[in-house]
Amino acid sequence: MEKTTQLYEGKAKKVFATDDPELVIVSYKDDATALDGLKRGTIVGKGAINNRMSNYLMQILEKNGVPTHFVEELNDRETVVKKVSIVPLEVIIRNISAGSFAKRYGVEEGIVFAEPTIEFSYKNDDLHDPLINDYHALALGLATKEEIETIKRYAFKVNEVMKEYFKGLGVTLVDFKLEFGKTADGKIVLADEISPDTCRFWDSKTNEKLDKDRFRRDMGGVEDAYKEMMRRVFGE
Ligand code: ADP
Ligand code: UDP
Repeated sequence: MEKTTQLYEGKAKKVFATDDPELVIVSYKDDATALDGLKRGTIVGKGAINNRMSNYLMQILEKNGVPTHFVEELNDRETVVKKVSIVPLEVIIRNISAGSFAKRYGVEEGIVFAEPTIEFSYKNDDLHDPLINDYHALALGLATKEEIETIKRYAFKVNEVMKEYFKGLGVTLVDFKLEFGKTADGKIVLADEISPDTCRFWDSKTNEKLDKDRFRRDMGGVEDAYKEMMRRVFGE
């Protein structure tokens, strides 16, 4: 597997082409952004933690019937994944009120929902990722009806599997963002990453935040929170 040209540099990862047209290599950076790109910084060690955690979770999800882009971890920061065309939707599942949900609807954080919720944002930086519903996504041609149904089914399955998994580690899964993509043969698979950058994790006993909110909200202890999540998952 040869890494060839850089295809893309995002806020948290770089994507490289390989000599296989169906595979790309993602390289995780320590760079962090928040508040729609206004806040920038570095979280030392984050790239390696997110890479390893995301790969581990995707393998658990595969075993539970959710197809993912994961192929092979190359080293601390780099992973081979199936090249997909990303469906430009951020798929957000919530179990407990927090973040933009709490703000938008004027409720406190920490309300445990009777049922998980799902919402979509249109992945478009120029428009600042606006909230969008299924019908709008369909009207804009972002995905087909069947693809949207598949994405919803997989997203709720991811929630079921991850909620139980993290519960066993003493971590409450509050909410998270997923991205899906389409492979060369038209299959919908889970792509991008699942990490403390993209999930809200609260310690089950103390409700201490163990995720990127510590960076977003200038709470301090950012690196330690990522390390703690690493320790819970890998025992190191
Ligand atoms: P952003 O683009 O939001 O700054 P990142 O820095 O994480 O985000 O960049 C990674 C980019 O790679 C994202 O645009 C993501 O949608 C895309 N991506 C994730 N998984 C794959 C994949 N399997 N194939 C192609 N692109 C992917
Ligand atoms: N999220 C993400 N990327 C985004 C927006 C949100 O990974 O561009 C994640 C975030 O980490 C949280 C969940 O999606 O776990 C819900 O985020 P929310 O809508 O509350 O937005 P925020 O408070 O981050 O602005």
